Amino acid sequence: MITLIKAGWVAAWDGAHHRVIRNGEVAFDGDSILYVGAQCPFAADEVVEDPNWFVCPGFINLHGHIGLDVMASVLDVGRGDRFAPSLDFVERAPLFLEPSLSPTAQQQNAEISLVQMVKSGATTIVDAAGSGTIWWLGNPPEDEAMLVETVGRIGARAYLSLSYRSGRSYQKADGSRDWHWDEDMGMAGLSEAMRFAQEFHGAHDGRVQVMLCPHAVDNCSPDLLSATRNEARQAGLLIQIHTAQYAHEVDLIRQRYGDTPVGHLHNIGFLGPDIILGHCIFISGHPSVGGDSERDLRLIADAGSSVAHSPLPFARSGDALYSLPRYLDHGITVGIGCDIWPADIISEMKLAWFLGKHTNRTAERPTCLEVFTAATVGSANALGRSDLGRLAPGAKADIVCVDLSGFHVGPVIDPIRSLVAFCTGRDVARVYVDGKVIVDEGKVLNADEEALRRAAHEIQNTLYKVAAQRDPLGRTVDSILQLEKTT
Ligand SMILES: [Zn+2]
Repeated sequence: MITLIKAGWVAAWDGAHHRVIRNGEVAFDGDSILYVGAQCPFAADEVVEDPNWFVCPGFINLHGHIGLDVMASVLDVGRGDRFAPSLDFVERAPLFLEPSLSPTAQQQNAEISLVQMVKSGATTIVDAAGSGTIWWLGNPPEDEAMLVETVGRIGARAYLSLSYRSGRSYQKADGSRDWHWDEDMGMAGLSEAMRFAQEFHGAHDGRVQVMLCPHAVDNCSPDLLSATRNEARQAGLLIQIHTAQYAHEVDLIRQRYGDTPVGHLHNIGFLGPDIILGHCIFISGHPSVGGDSERDLRLIADAGSSVAHSPLPFARSGDALYSLPRYLDHGITVGIGCDIWPADIISEMKLAWFLGKHTNRTAERPTCLEVFTAATVGSANALGRSDLGRLAPGAKADIVCVDLSGFHVGPVIDPIRSLVAFCTGRDVARVYVDGKVIVDEGKVLNADEEALRRAAHEIQNTLYKVAAQRDPLGRTVDSILQLEKTT
């Protein structure tokens, strides 16, 4: 069946750039785009028309955490890292902790994240560290099947993973931090991740893909990373790893291995075109790191690795990537990820635009088009997907229709500028994945948003109680948050 969308504006891909077509048309047959241009030559079975719509390629959230979002509302000064110790990192490794949520609550917790991501315009969601609370405190393997089933029902495209690590940072009863290392735990985690890949890679007509996510450079041993590299190459899987996300991580890696996190990954032969570096902020030349301002960028570019840029969670703690134009000018593929709540890919673009200018000390760059391209083609290229992130014949019919008629949008001259500068995910009217409508009039069709909104409160209350019970210093959540505010 051929569907034709006629809209006020269409972002057409010409093979090298997005070009806006005024009063453009997009036609697709099943899951594949047939035509993008001014006037479709094909007879359509269904015509959808809205002069206020800006038709964009589906946005790709290159770094998200399904199931972690419900905790983000407590964050003030920083990322979950400040809060997580009381949840996860007690004297013993958290693998030994009992799950804190019922299977039903786990499922709802995952669905809350997914719903928010797709209704904000993300058609592809990359779960970059094996689903925060789901896997750390969950009940695998039931939760794994539940997550895949939920993605299938919502209709999104997703890259899922089971994260693993060989070391855990934890807080002792005296408040100090230490590391617990367990090589066997890491290798067993890799085996589980491969089993997950064998079971679910390609599920739901290929909408579900699996990647490997060794959690972070500072908690995975060189042996675990080498084993990951070998397994991924043999199975043809992508890898994403949190890299250079904290200044203290740089100190730690320098102490252990005598180099920056990026330098360390280069030295052990880990980097390559199939590697996505999550965040990748604290590289050589960053104001907090010092050293050669070109060196780490060159290592990434020469290896053909990509960066998943998530400005929001780091802006909360006063950190930023220096700078988006510099990464792009080195030829590095940069995609956009939301990391955590509100998981709004359009707002994330806006912040990448603002902070990119701020850290680059230029008004001219990054442009709106550069961040729009990062959230579409950049993320798709990081995934090795020439059929995503662009509206062109042969590409997947993953399409986002943004309503530009809102008062806050104002008059539109260039819809890409209007989208990045003035819109949020709440302006998303309709979302197609594989040619099927999964969001209409801003609502996710196959989810009960009101029930999930209510469930979120219950889930958060449960996690608060668990956090207080598990805090090694015996603090309540209120006192933990109070502590954050004064540090
Ligand atoms: Zn992350």
